[in-house]
Amino acid sequence: MAEAFTPLERSILGTKGVSDEQLTALGALGVASKSDFATIGDADTLRQLLPTLDPGVASSVMTWATGASQSAAASGQGPIVLESADVVHCVHCHTKQPKDYSSGDLCTSCGKQAEPILSCYWCTSSGPGTFCRQCGAEFVATAELELAMLLKREGVAKEAVAVQLKSMTQADKDVLWGRVRKSRG
Ligand SMILES: [Zn+2]
Ligand SMILES: [Zn+2]
Repeated sequence: MAEAFTPLERSILGTKGVSDEQLTALGALGVASKSDFATIGDADTLRQLLPTLDPGVASSVMTWATGASQSAAASGQGPIVLESADVVHCVHCHTKQPKDYSSGDLCTSCGKQAEPILSCYWCTSSGPGTFCRQCGAEFVATAELELAMLLKREGVAKEAVAVQLKSMTQADKDVLWGRVRKSRG
């Protein structure tokens, strides 16, 4: 044989339950190195080539050869776990808060309020989270609180203030700031 498994590969395949006869049969099929298993790709294909191979053995051989868990490959899931977009990090110590975190909870690491306390432009109460607990208005950034209060004075609806601020360009906001200054006299 011009190409064959290295002694190490033979021992590894032996520990996984591949017999000498099966190794020889694999060689006859042109499977003579670890990378040849990668070409085969999965345990099912391997067993189609070599039906005498036990399914468990085929699976563990493929896991070894391709470096991937067969179940993960089958379900299409990689090892990367994506964080959901609404994960909350503590504003004081940046610790990621647990999944069951809800607005107003204290940080699991430093014990402070994990989210910033924002003032409501509509009813002037304050609290954590995205929406005012008193009146339901969507909070805006503290830096834009005065802009939101101006919009309220100018008759913009409660539900529309935050939306309108988000849709504004910096130039729009500069104009609005001009009106805020004017209104101060
Ligand atoms: Zn913290
Ligand atoms: Zn409010």
